[in-house]
Formats: sequence, structure tokens, C-alpha cells
Amino acid sequence: MTFANLGLPNAVLTNLEQLGYSQPTPIQQEAIPLALKGKNLIAAAQTGSGKTATFVLPMLTTLMQGQTQRKKRARAIILAPTRELVLQVNDRIGEYGKGLGLVSMAVYGGVDVQAQKQQLIEGVDIVVATPGRLRDLYTQRAIRFDEVELLVLDEADRMLDMGFIEDITKILDTLPEERQNLLFSATLSRPVRELAKQAVPKAIHLSV
Ligand code: AMP
Repeated sequence: MTFANLGLPNAVLTNLEQLGYSQPTPIQQEAIPLALKGKNLIAAAQTGSGKTATFVLPMLTTLMQGQTQRKKRARAIILAPTRELVLQVNDRIGEYGKGLGLVSMAVYGGVDVQAQKQQLIEGVDIVVATPGRLRDLYTQRAIRFDEVELLVLDEADRMLDMGFIEDITKILDTLPEERQNLLFSATLSRPVRELAKQAVPKAIHLSV
């Protein structure tokens, strides 16, 4: 099994080759073709399983299609529990998406909001965010969600443990209903399943 077999475009395959990725991990093999078809997915996946590439690679592929010249408004939102994870995911997007012309930014609390607002004004395709700060930016009208076609909830169990349910629910309420949703969680506890019911309807469940 190779990444090319999964249906990823050449521009992405080149980046993976340069990173020395020779073979997709089991979760990547299972989830990437489904994500490319636009399916909603709920995946029980641990850190180290290759879960980040599992949602980033199809996302980049989807966003490459339908790129326009006009000012960029967020088309994909990735929610993650901590600043560290947000930065890590954003870095991976930079590596996997090198040369694709897509702009990704990291949004998290505890730092001045002004630089993040400025970056949003300049235009982004992908926003990787902790839920609290993203909600703040939305409330302050610094970001619009009307072009969002893709939502990822990464480490959903940790986001709930950290008390982000209200922020996540508020964000869900303001996103366009017509969108693809992917949820990743180490554990599928009852609260995670409740959230999944709300955020990821008609999902295919994967566990590798
Ligand atoms: P993750 O589970 O997303 O945190 O990824 C764990 C580590 O595996 C990261 O350092 C990735 O860069 C790496 N990785 C992800 N997918 C692959 C792959 N198919 N081949 C080699 N390394 C990978």
C-alpha cells in the first residue's frame, strides 16, 4: 500500500516523499480514501498513529480543489485542546502542504489577539485553533465561518476534559450546516460520543 494508492494528488505525494514517508499507517490507509470521498468520520486514534496526516492530507486535497484568487476566508477549521498541539498541527500542515498555495494559521489564547486578527484580515484557508480563542475571535467578528466546508475535532476527549464543551457547541452552532466533519479521540467515552452525535452526524466509525 502506498500513498498514491489512497488517491492523493502528486503535489502532496511529492511532499510526503521529501519527508521520507514511504507507507501510510493503518489509520491513514483506512481513513484517507473515505475522507477524500467527503465522508464524516469518527476515529479512535492515539497520538503516534499518524492521525494528524490522516486528517491533514485529505483536507489539503479538498482545499486545493476550489481554490480561488479572491480574498481568503477560512474553509477548514481544526479544533485542538492546547497551544502546543495547535502549533504542532499547524507545522505539519506547512510540511504536508508545501507549495500548494494554501495558508494556514494557529490560533490560541494567552497571547495578544491583535496579531491573530491581522493575520485573519490578510486571509487564511485553514485555521488551527483552541476552542476558547476561536470563539472569542468569532464573537469579536474577526473571523467569519460562512465559507467553512470542513471541521476537524482533534483529541476530542482532551478538549472535553479541559472544559471546552461550551465553546465547541457555540462554534458548531455558527458553522454552515453543509460541511464535512472528522473527529479524532484516544477514547470514545460517553461525553465524546454525545459530542460526536452533535458534531459528526452520519459518521463512519473507525478504530485501528
Ligand atoms: P501523529 O500520530 O499524527 O502525532 O504522528 C506521529 C509521528 O509519525 C509524526 O512524527 C509524523 O510525522 C509521523 N508519521 C505520520 N505518518 C507517517 C507515515 N505514514 N510514515 C512515516 N511517519 C509518519
